Amino acid sequence: MLETLHRIIQKVNACRDLGEALDTIVYMLRQSIQADVCSVYLTDFENHRHVLRATVGLNKEAIGKVWLPMHRGLVGLVCERAEAINVEDAHSHKKYLATVETGETRYHGFLGAPILQQSKVLGVLVVRNRKAGKIDDEVVTFVLTLAAQLAGAIAHADATGEVAKIQRTGGPGNQFLKGRASSSGIAIGTAFVTYLPADLESVPDRMTHDRELEQQQLRQAVDAVQQELRRLKQKLSDDLPEEDQALFDAWVMILSEDALTGRAMQLIAEEGMWAPAALRITVEEHAGVFDAMEDIYLRERASDIRDLGRRVLSYLQQELPSSIEYPECTILVGEEVSAVQLAEVPRSRLAGVVSATGSSSSHVAILSRALGVPSVMGVESLPTTHLHGRELILDGYSGRLYVSPQPMVRAEYQRLAEEDRALTAELENLRGLPVETTDGVRIPLYLNTGLLSDMSTFGIEESDGVGLYRTEFPFMVRDRFPGEESQVKNYRKVLQAFSPRPVALRTLDIGGDKPLPYFPVKESNPFLGWRGVRISLDHPEIFLTQVRAMLRASFGLDNLHIMLPMVTSVAEVDQLLALIKRAHRELLEEGCAITKPKTGVMIEVPAAVYNSAAIAKRVDFISVGTNDLTQYLLAVDRNNPRVAELYSDLHPAVLFALMQIIEGARQYNCPVGICGELAGNPLATPLLVGMGVGSLSMSAGSLLRVKRVVSTISQADSMRLLQSVLQMNEADEVTAFMSAALENLGLEKLLKPGQG
Ligand code: PEP
Ligand code: MG
Repeated sequence: MLETLHRIIQKVNACRDLGEALDTIVYMLRQSIQADVCSVYLTDFENHRHVLRATVGLNKEAIGKVWLPMHRGLVGLVCERAEAINVEDAHSHKKYLATVETGETRYHGFLGAPILQQSKVLGVLVVRNRKAGKIDDEVVTFVLTLAAQLAGAIAHADATGEVAKIQRTGGPGNQFLKGRASSSGIAIGTAFVTYLPADLESVPDRMTHDRELEQQQLRQAVDAVQQELRRLKQKLSDDLPEEDQALFDAWVMILSEDALTGRAMQLIAEEGMWAPAALRITVEEHAGVFDAMEDIYLRERASDIRDLGRRVLSYLQQELPSSIEYPECTILVGEEVSAVQLAEVPRSRLAGVVSATGSSSSHVAILSRALGVPSVMGVESLPTTHLHGRELILDGYSGRLYVSPQPMVRAEYQRLAEEDRALTAELENLRGLPVETTDGVRIPLYLNTGLLSDMSTFGIEESDGVGLYRTEFPFMVRDRFPGEESQVKNYRKVLQAFSPRPVALRTLDIGGDKPLPYFPVKESNPFLGWRGVRISLDHPEIFLTQVRAMLRASFGLDNLHIMLPMVTSVAEVDQLLALIKRAHRELLEEGCAITKPKTGVMIEVPAAVYNSAAIAKRVDFISVGTNDLTQYLLAVDRNNPRVAELYSDLHPAVLFALMQIIEGARQYNCPVGICGELAGNPLATPLLVGMGVGSLSMSAGSLLRVKRVVSTISQADSMRLLQSVLQMNEADEVTAFMSAALENLGLEKLLKPGQG
């Protein structure tokens, strides 16, 4: 049965449109369970009815014409109960509703199984038999299992078919495809479908007689790509902050002999392989390491490596990139758009980016945020082959993509885009003004950044410093731990850019779910495993090197704050502080007169919430990582789309935890800041101000929005809002209440579409 199930699903997934998919389902199902009739009714939510969409056994003429009102008949009953109904003789059931046009009155046995997606009944799969009699349990479970698997396939085929239909008829569409909103904003423009001609996977194994020549050709191809990357970096230098430009340096480095190319050279020299095959093997080996990682950010690095590999192959194959004419408002579309492809489009012509694969952690998404270009990633069943030259609307707030939109949809989005522009202009006026509530409470706003950050050009001037600098990236792009010197250089750049404002450098937060390629950690439960400071304590040599580098980088600047991630217990804090003290003492002994840095702990683990007073007693500041804290409090994996609906950092449990932390820290006058995503959410701002949070740290894109909220409210009113929210039990209630509160303050424009 399992094999049959897989076969059916596979066939359905390969269908070009919904009609074909449904026909395939009913045909294959009837054949495999030997029933007399198999049909599918789909729910038409707009018209409140269940429409017959496919059948084998009933009258085909009835397809699309026969329907049952919502919740009427046996099909309606299946839909209402959202469970299977197995009836011996349909005719004697009180809910039975005969539809003569289908010819179904000849059939007595009835089985209906709901097709459910996220508890919504999309339709009903019906099996009928001429003879009366209940259908065997085994068949019932098979049909139910099939129905459960079909929801995704139906949604997929529906989306594909819709666009294919538009392609055939040239008619307008008001349907949309859905992906992950990865960079906010609205783009209206022309699709430009991008692809890479070189197909690395299909390169065959071949031997060479001239190993030196192969090596030389590979070296030249790599040089050419490295030059291209440097040229692109130069081209973007006006639009991208220096920190983000480092992405291009990272790619140049990945291609160096120390990393990717060295192994390929070795394969040529030792095994006599020709350069393209040596390249293919090397790229697959490297990308494979990333593919296997749990952490989505790291998994995305595999596609960077494959993209670089294909670029080198194009040069090896002499398929030199030619200059391309991009449309005025280009929306770049592709199966797997790479950050380099994005960088190739002139900034003045780039309106948006859509990719069938990838997530918010893809470099292309990171780069689009840094450039302020809306993007949507992971649009399943994106029909890239049909889209080139079509008009698209991309909604970077909700993740929607409209193909050849109807005039009404276009007009609505033009209005939204206009509002967006007006809001940006209005927020611009806030630049340089102090961040203070109407009753005079100052709330410093810091920036979250990392080497590849969401830092836009205004972030540096606008923020009060850096509240979270994620140091992981330089560790990820190498094939070994970076040395003290190279770390010093890195950290010095950030400390200098923000001096004299404080910069909180977070010590390495790797492990479990984000192992380094050269430091693999295999665990069955990585989020609860060896991560953050747990690794630092087991490997003090790595920790001490990093802390020494941080301290040395701060020489003469004195704006360093060291921040410790994923702390669970007080004993950990004591040990880590002792190590920091030791590194500082050793540097003093070596003659480096470095000022003692401020040290702080991130509270991300529930146990630390209850230890906040004891932790506060030991450190200079506390910063709450609400992303992980929410994940652990709600027991919801922050990267798992299946439970994404359950993940909300506005959940009352998270708010109570924050209150508890602040309460604990107050006993020792220890300031508490927030550096998770919650800090950048305008809906949360009044609540955090009401709690008495000392500072907020967020990505650059949120700074002015949050500033606007802070300067519109008073702390007294914020406290009142907080009191009301603390009576609530559900995150949805909090969201609705706070949306209304912002509306009352005239701040509804700050809500992203879909948030209100
Ligand atoms: C957090 O967990 O809230 C946090 C800021 O750290 P990261 O997102 O890097 O885990
Ligand atoms: Mg964290």
